[in-house]
Amino acid sequence: MGLKVIALGTGVCSNCYMSCEYDRRPLGFLLDIDGTLLLLDCAEGTRHQLQKVGYDYGYVQHVAISHAHPDHAALPQFLQAKSCRRIFNDDHNEFGVCTVYMPEKLVEGFDAVWRWHVPENEGKYWAEFTPRFVPMSEASAVGIAPGVELKSYPVYHAFGRHPSVAYRVETPYGVVAYSGDTAKCPGLIEAARDADLFICEQSFRIGFQDKAKYGHLTPFEVGEVCQEANAQHVRLVHYIGLDAESDVIAEIRRGGYNGDVKRAVDFDVWTLDQ
Ligand SMILES: [Zn+2]
Repeated sequence: MGLKVIALGTGVCSNCYMSCEYDRRPLGFLLDIDGTLLLLDCAEGTRHQLQKVGYDYGYVQHVAISHAHPDHAALPQFLQAKSCRRIFNDDHNEFGVCTVYMPEKLVEGFDAVWRWHVPENEGKYWAEFTPRFVPMSEASAVGIAPGVELKSYPVYHAFGRHPSVAYRVETPYGVVAYSGDTAKCPGLIEAARDADLFICEQSFRIGFQDKAKYGHLTPFEVGEVCQEANAQHVRLVHYIGLDAESDVIAEIRRGGYNGDVKRAVDFDVWTLDQ
């Protein structure tokens, strides 16, 4: 009994630079809450990463997408794989179940994306596989299992023009928060408030000035956010890796956060239990 979180993708939108110590896939995190499986983001390769850690993506029933950038949301590929998994194993009714959570505008737009991929099917799926889409509007809260709530908080990303949310998963074993992609903003701090585990993006390098207001976090801003939110344990993801980890941590301290923080790499496992 407990909550296990597995980092399936901690990387960025390009393959890792040669100078990087690790090869890291784009974003995806598995939460296993007493057997309820929830993915936070689902990028290219997430289902293959799942397989490497002994999970069958066919049993993933909940997928929460922070925003639709391709390094976070290879959703057509995942849904096709789920559907085909059911065709190849038609005695497994569980494989036909999948609920996708994402910002309301992205739900509205996904029908066109699916039709682009599968024009022959008039927007339908296959083999009794019909994913359910749940729009996450401002401060939505959805129960996904007994005692488990998924909450979304609008955040600022991509000039504020891309519908984006941070997630907060409240469970009997503790709270996991995930930034998605975002600048420092009130929604992010609310999502991470007193979180036991905060999976936080750090896309911008030390000292970067976001003059264009694109919307990511520098290490200094990570420090400010984590201090304001009082996050307990912080794991950095979505970092390019060209700054030394010790320098990044020093910047986070300068931003005001003195708690437990380190960089995550793919296949890190974190557990919460009581
Ligand atoms: Zn993004």
